[in-house]
Amino acid sequence: MPVFIMADMKLTDEQQERYSRMLALRDFSENDMETIMNTSVAMLGAGGLGSPALRLLAAIGFGRIRIIDRDIVELSNIQRQTVFNTEDIGKPKAEAAADNLELMNPEVQFDPICVSVDDENAVDVLKGVDIIVDGLDSFKARRAVNQASLSLKIPYVFAGAVEYYANLTTFIPGKTGCLQCVMGDAQDNPENTCARVGVSPMLLSLAASIEVNEALKLALGRESDLANRLMTIDTSSLSFDFFDIGKAADCDVCSSPHKVPASKLTELTVTQLCSQSFNVSPGKLLKIDLDTLATKLDSDYSVKRRKRFLVVNVDHEIRVTIMPAGNVVVKGVATATQASKLYKDMIGEGN
Ligand SMILES: [Zn+2]
Repeated sequence: MPVFIMADMKLTDEQQERYSRMLALRDFSENDMETIMNTSVAMLGAGGLGSPALRLLAAIGFGRIRIIDRDIVELSNIQRQTVFNTEDIGKPKAEAAADNLELMNPEVQFDPICVSVDDENAVDVLKGVDIIVDGLDSFKARRAVNQASLSLKIPYVFAGAVEYYANLTTFIPGKTGCLQCVMGDAQDNPENTCARVGVSPMLLSLAASIEVNEALKLALGRESDLANRLMTIDTSSLSFDFFDIGKAADCDVCSSPHKVPASKLTELTVTQLCSQSFNVSPGKLLKIDLDTLATKLDSDYSVKRRKRFLVVNVDHEIRVTIMPAGNVVVKGVATATQASKLYKDMIGEGN
């Protein structure tokens, strides 16, 4: 769960103002806000569910949001994918979402990743986040996420929505069953896609709100309302139902989740993001003192100290963003080798 990097962090006056209506809630303290600001979330998909979920995740101040989506923005998206403007048509969704959300809340660090999540990359794409939020539209991708969630022991807030119907539940490795327990071998049905039968924007906003409510509770270590429960929503009759669910005794996925190969947890991982940018993650979470590192790098580069990260301008093209846990985004380089060399030059081998 959330890794506390800066234990003595205090909210600034601006943060107090920005989050004042959250801080005024009877069960929400300044410590809770700091926890949220130190929590990272992976939003899988910046589409119908992802858009409203991302707006909420960013607005309420989750510290770091990884936005994973391989598509580009199309005119038919704008009706429900509220994170985009009409002028974003043609741009990669992950990048356009990050740019728009940054304007809304510059306190948040956004990591756009333009990939389609699959069995090969799911662990790398999700490694290092505290919570996974689902905005996907295929069972194939969700199965890869389910497996990665179990291997990495990261809670997975599941949602699926089409037409007027949504299903939601939260999978917590070790405490609940998994996607396979609930969905079995369910396959994607080409007759029942959003393109064919449509999807209600209001349903999506509702389901996304519930997902973020779950993410917030998980981040704060509170009891999930959807652990071992399946919630169904039907906005054609405005009905909400809950069903008790649990671990399937014969589930061969969560009964013996594949261990992440040791090499994947000790090596520097370089993942291609969008437009000549790369995410470089160390094999384990580091505790970098940003002030000390800023002083060290200042003689060779132009360094800007932000509240929770450093921005290092190598030249006009290349910009390196360094987070205290050792995760780095390198923008403006063509290859993973260049990205990893810059990482080693600035931070070292990462362990
Ligand atoms: Zn299972």
